Amino acid sequence: MSNVYELVVKQYNNAKSEYHHDKSYDIFDYLEHPKNQIIIHYPVRMDDDSIKVVEGYRVQHNNVLGPFKGGIRISDDISLDEIKSLAFWMTLKCSLQELPYGGAKGGIKIDSRKISKNELERVSKGYATNMFKYIGENRDIPAPDMGSNAQIMDWMTDAYQKKAQSHNNAVFTGKSVDCGGAKGRTQATGYGVVECIKLWAGTNNINLMGKTYLVQGFGNVGSHVALGLSDLGMVCVGIADHTVALENKSGFDIKSIYNYCENNKCLRDYNDNKCQPISRENFFGIKCDIVIPAARELEINIKEANQLNCSMVIEAANGPISPLAEDILMKKNITIIPDIFANSGGVVVSYFEWLQNKRCEYWTEEETLAKLSDRMKYIYNKVITKMKLKPHISMRTACYLLAIERIENSVKNKGLY
Ligand code: NAD
Repeated sequence: MSNVYELVVKQYNNAKSEYHHDKSYDIFDYLEHPKNQIIIHYPVRMDDDSIKVVEGYRVQHNNVLGPFKGGIRISDDISLDEIKSLAFWMTLKCSLQELPYGGAKGGIKIDSRKISKNELERVSKGYATNMFKYIGENRDIPAPDMGSNAQIMDWMTDAYQKKAQSHNNAVFTGKSVDCGGAKGRTQATGYGVVECIKLWAGTNNINLMGKTYLVQGFGNVGSHVALGLSDLGMVCVGIADHTVALENKSGFDIKSIYNYCENNKCLRDYNDNKCQPISRENFFGIKCDIVIPAARELEINIKEANQLNCSMVIEAANGPISPLAEDILMKKNITIIPDIFANSGGVVVSYFEWLQNKRCEYWTEEETLAKLSDRMKYIYNKVITKMKLKPHISMRTACYLLAIERIENSVKNKGLY
């Protein structure tokens, strides 16, 4: 079992000890097991005419509340256990956000940076074709995750539509706007994280202007969080990706870094004459107000937790904090805004995209983002109310309890055979 799966189970067990559930519906035992775990292998023709056999996964965790929903992660460093954990979180995230979805996650085990664009297109289309019978607009709706993007969703949609001989756009979300994507989906996850920060600041009477932050990961999520926080007048004093970690005490120019990464694909060799490279170990020790892990799981372990010098950590990535690190942060009185709420803006706007595709209608970006803001506020208030009822629990446990209650009610109403 991987550490990530242990992390999910640990978080889940914390919620279990707080939950007074109906013994005749052991929802906890039920949710601990994913419904389906699909592994595929398919051949792809490479540019040099050789054939590569690609491994793909889809874990369909639970569909009590609606069709499975979850992104597709592309990396040579993924395992079924990791996908299983991410699928579990999707079930909880969709339930917490009161969406008509269950949870799933997919994966393609390949380093997309090491293959050509044409090869990536064939890998993506091969995945959609081989997963054809398991996915569908009312069965399982994939979306982008780490390593995938709108272009990959467009390719997958094309492969699916050709095989289905239909023009159904609602099978994949996170597509480009020209191929039926929702305006605002690209920045939605980061936008949602910024909304959470604003809500937290509002409840704690904090003026965000001039406050400092670190962001680890400058991909889709991290870059849009940073752009949003710049607009609020916040100052980024540390930034890192898989190639380098940088510090700039007077604050980075986020728009210039964004443009640099658009052209260079990563932060390597970025230099604005004021920033300095910093070791990964010291990166998390940079003094600031907010730390934003937006890269991948288990990046904040005991060492990093001991180093952190901030008042809040918001989990833009899924599962970035290990259980022992979380204990340290609690002792240091550092607030954690948990992933299943913090980064849920992506799946909320995916839901909006799915609705638009089904109705063949399209909203403006302003409409979409305004609806997302309302949704984040509504759920945040429910979480705060739950925490007032149980003042000893963490925000994470409050989110888990709300999510599990909704699934249990649905199971009870539908009945089991
Ligand atoms: P991405 O592939 O666009 O970007 C990932 C970023 O993390 C890159 O900048 C990469 O260099 C960096 N990174 C990877 N490993 C690193 C390491 N060891 N140290 C430092 N940086 C590292 O991915 P993304 O879509 O931005 O996803 C980031 C996280 O957010 C993931 O945990 C993902 O599951 C989660 N998430 C994404 C979405 C979405 O809509 N894209 C929605 C919800 C949650």
